[in-house]
Amino acid sequence: MTSSRQKPAPRPSSAFLTVDPEKDGKQVGFLMIPHSPDDDAWGATRIPVAIIKNGSGPTAILEGGNHGDEYEGPIAICDLIRNLDPGRVQGRLILMPANNVHAVIAGKRTSSVDGLNFNRTFPGDPRGTITQQISAFLSDHILPLGDAFLDLHSGGSSLDIIPSAIVEPTDDPQLHKRNVAAVQAFDAPMTVVIANLGEPRTATATACRQGLVTVGTEMAGAGTVSLDALKICRRGVANVLDHLGIVARDTPEPRRGDGQVLELPGTAAYVYATADGIFEPFHANGEKVSAGQPAGRIHCTWDPTRPPETLHYAADGILYGRRQPGRVRPGNCCLIVAAPYRGVLS
Ligand SMILES: [Zn+2]
Repeated sequence: MTSSRQKPAPRPSSAFLTVDPEKDGKQVGFLMIPHSPDDDAWGATRIPVAIIKNGSGPTAILEGGNHGDEYEGPIAICDLIRNLDPGRVQGRLILMPANNVHAVIAGKRTSSVDGLNFNRTFPGDPRGTITQQISAFLSDHILPLGDAFLDLHSGGSSLDIIPSAIVEPTDDPQLHKRNVAAVQAFDAPMTVVIANLGEPRTATATACRQGLVTVGTEMAGAGTVSLDALKICRRGVANVLDHLGIVARDTPEPRRGDGQVLELPGTAAYVYATADGIFEPFHANGEKVSAGQPAGRIHCTWDPTRPPETLHYAADGILYGRRQPGRVRPGNCCLIVAAPYRGVLS
């Protein structure tokens, strides 16, 4: 499955694993990134990694904690690390529940050590900051081991998003078909194609460039653990691992989704704040909206003489996500609209 792929040559790096990806059974250890701050000259940043391997078969890499304030995916990955019997695995799982570990420990989106958003650093730099070194090790040493990559995000502290499985766009039509099939196997309430406005520095964009079957998620958010989204996430991960032929489900699950695929229609998907104030949304997630329709108002409650500023939608579709904090400044993303997908599915 991996033989025809273009694998990048690994760049020299001081990072190392305490587990052996080629060994059968279950190992739980760390990716060690040498880290030399004031109080620890020869210390290391430790990123948890578990290998569960049994016989021959495909390899799936599961990532959580890409952002440190997104929780459902990491919980589902830790469940697998603790509870999955290696005898049920046909192939290999590489389980990484806390990849931007300093952000995870701080419960923040970005790293508390270098301030970087891990998901804007790929393919990383093995001689860069800690976050850049983590993404470099993933790019050079972890992703090349995989046939499939599951990147489990949620909306984080600033957004609440309808629980959904995400297709990362790729120029490779064969990979696109396999990605859509794997994402639909997740069977989230919604399947959405998200191009991140063409952003190439994400983990999923990197996995696609390396030819891995790639599945993303956005599981609610608002900086909390959603009970519904956690159930959807656990079930979806099991569905995808069954689809990949790595861990068969005990009992087949009936499909719940209607198979509809949506997309974020470019820049028109986003409603940004245009003023400093308090954002009042006009709709709940899941409501149908249309281009030109008033979307909400920004109030300046400390200057009541100033009239509220009205924001408008720029696309037809459904309200897919909403900003959580009421306080906004110009440029903040207040709302996100998803529209029916116009591309090819199969
Ligand atoms: Zn995220």
